Amino acid sequence: MRVLDDCLPFLIGDRWVGGGPRKHQILEDPSYGREIAAAWLADGADVEAAVAAARRSFDSGVWQAVGGDQRSRVLWRIADLIEQHALELATLEMRNTGKPLASCLHGEIPFAAQCFRYFAGLAPQVAGRAIALYGLPNEQFRAGTRLEPVGVVAAIVPWNGPLVQACWKVAPALAAGCSVVLKPSELTPLTALRLGELALEAGLPPGVLNIVTGGAEVGEALGAHPDVDKLSFTGSTRVGKALLQAAAGNLKRLTLELGGKSPVLVLEDADLEAAAEGIAQGIFGNAGQVCVAGSRVYAHASIHEALMRRVVQRAQGLQVGPGDLPTTQMGPLQSAAQLGRVSAMVERARADGAVVETGGERVILANAPGGHYHAPTVLSGLHAGMEILREEVFGPVLCMMPFDDPAELASLANDSPYGLAASIWTRRLDAANQLAAQVRAGLVWVNCHGIPDMAVPFGGFRQSGWGRENGIEAMQQYLETKSILIRL
Ligand code: NAD
Repeated sequence: MRVLDDCLPFLIGDRWVGGGPRKHQILEDPSYGREIAAAWLADGADVEAAVAAARRSFDSGVWQAVGGDQRSRVLWRIADLIEQHALELATLEMRNTGKPLASCLHGEIPFAAQCFRYFAGLAPQVAGRAIALYGLPNEQFRAGTRLEPVGVVAAIVPWNGPLVQACWKVAPALAAGCSVVLKPSELTPLTALRLGELALEAGLPPGVLNIVTGGAEVGEALGAHPDVDKLSFTGSTRVGKALLQAAAGNLKRLTLELGGKSPVLVLEDADLEAAAEGIAQGIFGNAGQVCVAGSRVYAHASIHEALMRRVVQRAQGLQVGPGDLPTTQMGPLQSAAQLGRVSAMVERARADGAVVETGGERVILANAPGGHYHAPTVLSGLHAGMEILREEVFGPVLCMMPFDDPAELASLANDSPYGLAASIWTRRLDAANQLAAQVRAGLVWVNCHGIPDMAVPFGGFRQSGWGRENGIEAMQQYLETKSILIRL
């Protein structure tokens, strides 16, 4: 990656920008708590320049007007380049997030490439429709719609899945013909910056993808910018609500992918081994720093103990360690601050009467004493209204609760301000279907949890957000419908 005055620069048009009076952010490897690089932070003038570059590229037609086929070719080349640089990108992601290298190399990076391929496939298919008129005579009039790119898109993403979350926004926005200003988290910009280099190498015209690094200030500036037509945000519900206010100025379109407290519903007849495995993966994967983490398990009272034993056993068997060790199954939390938040929530739960079945505290590893590790944790003895049951922990902390009456299950699941995802575990597909219809969540898995697919729309009900990523629904987020009515 390129370096400018000892720090990583960011991308405006075809210029790599940094230096001068700008501030910089030290980037850390959370596996060891060690500095790995520093990145220049964009200032107000840089945000202006990035939005102006995106606007110029959009208005010039250099991307939006070239047609879906041409856009598709470039997106496909970006996917190829992501694959060609898979090890490099996986290593950057591992260093900056602490995720195990294997999961970056075999999970995140191929998924990022898939994302570009999926939207490369959709780019040429963007089409309006011919309309059969309702009141007007069809012999005298013709009507139809055109789908047009929404314009300049600001994409703001968090630190828990930096490359994939950037791709989930950038790829459909580019496929639709939009120009983009991407803001990665100030803590994890490495793979986004590399994506910018690869996109230019793939032939994306300069200015169509701009990348500015920075934190709340840069995000706020993009959210409020009058020349940004659409904001696509992934992050906390708190910041999502703030951006809603900021976006009001020019009524920019909003997609909000926010927090969750996803329930896992285990019926009496479930395959307990499969459920325990899925539950463990659903909460301990990426050390629980996953928006759809299955953090509240409701298991039928007759199987609750047996299920909990199996989950606890898996938690205790997990190899916690640095991302670069091949034996590691669960890495650290991304920052000391996140470790502090998770530990404090577990402490408050304990003080509130929660029983710690396993874990419950931070872990100091002999081979990585500076890393931000928290033990995989299972809590029981919980009661409705506890913070740990209502608030997102964003760490490897599972709440387990028994239920007696299956008729109450949907209301237990829905007892949350969030509505991002849920899973149902049962051998009876009729019961699963019925329950899936009652659960208020944007995505319901049955006999699995947390498995994504590019073709499956992803997003939240209620305070988990607005709009959808992935699937053809994601393309619609970046398009406007224009109706044209012609008197013949
Ligand atoms: P965050 O809301 O603090 O930050 C997210 C992004 O917004 C970062 O780039 C950050 O720099 C920026 N930001 C911070 N304050 C801002 C402000 N005032 N105005 C504009 N931008 C601002 O979230 P986080 O702690 O980075 O990420 C964790 C959260 O993200 C969790 O709540 C998690 O559930 C959520 N998340 C949701 C999804 C989803 O698809 N629904 C996916 C991943 C993460």
